Amino acid sequence: TVRTRFAPSPTGLLHIGNARAALFNFLYARHCGGQFVLRIEDTDKERSTQKAVDVIFEGLRWMGLTWDGEPVFQSAREERHKEVALQLLAEGKAYRCFCTPEELKEMRETAVAEGRPPRYNGMWRDRDPSEAPAGAPYAIRIKAPREGENVIEDLVQGEVRVANAELDDMIILRSDGTPTYQHAVVVDDHDMEITHVIRGDDHLTNTFRQLMIYRAMGWEAPRFAHLPLIHGPDGAKLSKRHGAQSVVEFREMGYLPEALCNYLLRLGWGHGDAEILSRDEQIRLFDLSGVGRSASRMDYTKLEHVNAVYLREADDERLTNDVMERLASREGVETGPEVRKRVLELMPGLKERARTLIELTESAAFLGRQVPLSFDAKAEKQLTPENCTMLGELARDLAVVEPFTAEPVHEALKLFAEKHDLKLGKVAQPLRAALCGTTTSPGIDATAAALGRDEVLARIGAVQN
Ligand code: GLU
Repeated sequence: TVRTRFAPSPTGLLHIGNARAALFNFLYARHCGGQFVLRIEDTDKERSTQKAVDVIFEGLRWMGLTWDGEPVFQSAREERHKEVALQLLAEGKAYRCFCTPEELKEMRETAVAEGRPPRYNGMWRDRDPSEAPAGAPYAIRIKAPREGENVIEDLVQGEVRVANAELDDMIILRSDGTPTYQHAVVVDDHDMEITHVIRGDDHLTNTFRQLMIYRAMGWEAPRFAHLPLIHGPDGAKLSKRHGAQSVVEFREMGYLPEALCNYLLRLGWGHGDAEILSRDEQIRLFDLSGVGRSASRMDYTKLEHVNAVYLREADDERLTNDVMERLASREGVETGPEVRKRVLELMPGLKERARTLIELTESAAFLGRQVPLSFDAKAEKQLTPENCTMLGELARDLAVVEPFTAEPVHEALKLFAEKHDLKLGKVAQPLRAALCGTTTSPGIDATAAALGRDEVLARIGAVQN
């Protein structure tokens, strides 16, 4: 059965490119009825932190990418990595290298001076360890093939070839007994019975190095699928200056996880024109053959558009919970049960016009403000003395509307406008200004109904002098 894995290094954020790799691994495993497992590559003890591990777990959970079984921590497997390195040594497929740091430095400098790539020159490949000073520290290096060529049939990139002459005898076990990244990845992927390695194409050269270890051990290598990286809108590698890059940032900016996943999937994978796909459809349709070969460009506007679609379809209770949480950190906004009720009631109208949860929160804030409200410039303009007087009269009509729900309120506004020979907008806009402090909101009738009669009358009262 198919087994994929996500193997992040817990050294910082959950980058959006890695999150996409996780999504593709997840979808491919689920599509094939296989398993998706998680491996935390925490062998770099200086840079790995528990906080970064938590960020990864939380990010994956938020995106709904559930993994099978317990996560594997690479650092816990060091003994096994060592064992495999020693086995290769015993079989003559690897050797001890006693080079000192100075010798290695000189080797690199000579190579560069002679216009060659700075590779290890195989100095200890055929030397007898007895030539080294007694007790000298050594690293274990794998014997790279010197001739021939490596070919992989990448499931995204197609056939990729690298001449073996390009590879050097890389270290698999350092002199302090710790495994190198390349070595640990291979041993773990093999032991975890990974069948498909789906990762960023920045790992393509690593793949050729890792294949040496599979060959030397006589292990069957998994299939590889190297995903093109995500670039910024200008085609340069995605970086800070383009905008948000990490999953947490997108979350804070008010994107729904399902919108982000949908967007990341469509970025570089297509199925006809279908833009919006449910998780079930994603699982049913996803295949590696649909992944494009060229770098994808992050399009933040497109993401907003997808998010807006998901917002409109999202559950009102859920959106209300999120908005209330975001409102709680705002000054001058009440977030008690009364306000929550208003937000929930108006949510169908609010979510129609928001592209992010931040915009949604922004548009709901007025529901929790206290009289006297502050007014923006456009609202200020609506609140002329004449209009305020008119609103005072309107208040008398609204005081007796029964029940105080959208439709009867609408009727009352219409009648009031007719009675005063005004267009409905000439009544609605000043009213909106008085109730919201701005000139944009969902339908004024629904808005008034959500605020409730008492609050509406209080807000109108506050603009009377
Ligand atoms: N730990 C590696 C990274 O974060 C991933 C290695 C892999 O997927 O093979 O880039």
